[in-house]
Amino acid sequence: MANELQSKKDRQGTSSAPPVLLIVGAGASGMLAAVSARRTARSLGIADDRFRIVLIERNLKPGNKIAISGGGHCNITHDGPVDLLLEKGFLKKNEQRFVRHAVYRFTNADLLVLLASYGVQSVVKEDGRVFPASMRSGDVLAAIWRMVEEASAEMVTNMRVDGLEISRDGFEVRAGSAQFTADSVILATGGASWGSAGTLGDGIRLAVSVGLASVPTLPALAPIFFSVPPKPELVGVSLRGIGLLVESGSESDSRRGDLLISHRGISGPACLSLSRSVAGLFASGKAPVMIMADFFPGHDEGALSAFILDHAARRGTQLVRTFLQRCPLASERLAANSDKSTDPSATIPNVFAAEIMRLAGIGNELVMSGLTREHRRALVTIMKRLPLGKVRKVPLDKAEVSAGGISLAEINPKSMESRLHPRLYCCGEVLDYVGEVGGFNLQAAFSTGWVAGIHAARSLLDASHAQTAQE
Ligand SMILES: Cc1cc2nc3c(=O)[nH]c(=O)nc-3n(C[C@H](O)[C@H](O)[C@H](O)COP(=O)(O)OP(=O)(O)OC[C@H]3O[C@@H](n4cnc5c(N)ncnc54)[C@H](O)[C@@H]3O)c2cc1C
Repeated sequence: MANELQSKKDRQGTSSAPPVLLIVGAGASGMLAAVSARRTARSLGIADDRFRIVLIERNLKPGNKIAISGGGHCNITHDGPVDLLLEKGFLKKNEQRFVRHAVYRFTNADLLVLLASYGVQSVVKEDGRVFPASMRSGDVLAAIWRMVEEASAEMVTNMRVDGLEISRDGFEVRAGSAQFTADSVILATGGASWGSAGTLGDGIRLAVSVGLASVPTLPALAPIFFSVPPKPELVGVSLRGIGLLVESGSESDSRRGDLLISHRGISGPACLSLSRSVAGLFASGKAPVMIMADFFPGHDEGALSAFILDHAARRGTQLVRTFLQRCPLASERLAANSDKSTDPSATIPNVFAAEIMRLAGIGNELVMSGLTREHRRALVTIMKRLPLGKVRKVPLDKAEVSAGGISLAEINPKSMESRLHPRLYCCGEVLDYVGEVGGFNLQAAFSTGWVAGIHAARSLLDASHAQTAQE
């Protein structure tokens, strides 16, 4: 294989040799780039043997992350109009603006139509997440493999690219002792998280080696580990819809959503979403990073204090412990139920009610009428800012994606082409954007890959047409 991929100018006397598009990384973005590149070429009337598309993948099998995505179910994308998808899925405005063009060019609907044409029907969950109807990631992966095959893309597996150089006529790509020449290159090597899947930030290093700027990588969509693990009785407890706060020195951030207490710290949607901020604060090393829970994110301390006072006036003989256990968790309406709700996840879990009492210094047998002003103040403070733990680690190897990567300023969002080197394209998670949990990362990878493939093919084939016309 090594010397087969020579550009047409390198093949002395054979100026009609087909141009070569080399895609590094056969994940979601790389494989869709191959598919869209071939479709573009065919739409221009270029026969397959007049345009070579080669994918180089370091793993034995392409698409590892698609296989493990969504716990093996593959949350392919998110339902709804593109504008809403972008708003929900990309919290940083500059990242949202960057992926916007690509997601409009290849939308969630386009993706589902494409998959359906390969026999993969989809199903939309209540929260907007979209999965294959079979709930099997393998079905999505098999469909994409078939697309790549039908695109007559050459797949080289078990080969790790470790060098990239810009040459007079194109690109020199190295993989150990093997050397390739290509007319155009797409870097689609993914991010730097979950390294066991083959993603160790190689593409970022390759881009930097040819002069592109990068932003340091950080874990995102990750669990958070604490210096002191949660008490055993709290492990496994989930808190629905609460506020999750991070504070470090004068800096803070928050999210609202479901949280799970784990053996080493926390996990669950609110944690995954906040983890990027937490990792950033932790990496800065400026001050300890503390995580807190807000059981009443929709209400300020004044409203909560008035609610407790009012309840104490009406139900003075009720134990404070019972009041807490019947308190609606993260509800928009402040009202304690007369009975423990039939849905236990809708009220403060018993173990947390006990924890709130302990931290507020309130005895187990105290009744509501016995609450002093200090008790009430302490209760409100703890209910709004219950300390969960001091951060020890946000593990990159357990993060679903990485923040950071090739700087967005380096890339034209309409084509995914490097502003510095024409015909070098970057797509997918190798770029410095992060989507939320919910199918947004795969959609962004598919969309940016699709756009990169179209433009890489167009620019190569237009140029090769022009050259052929001159000859
Ligand atoms: C456990 C887990 C679950 C996830 N679940 C979901 C989900 O349900 N929905 C969702 O939207 N997102 C999910 N994600 C995120 C999503 O999988 C990624 O954002 C997406 O796959 C990125 O696509 P990509 O093509 O940019 O990179 P990848 O899919 O990571 O593909 C990059 C490819 O490049 C290869 N490569 C890397 N370096 C080299 C090299 N030097 N030479 C050759 N090849 C190389 C890698 O082996 C890999 O195959 C999940 C991630 C993880 C880790």
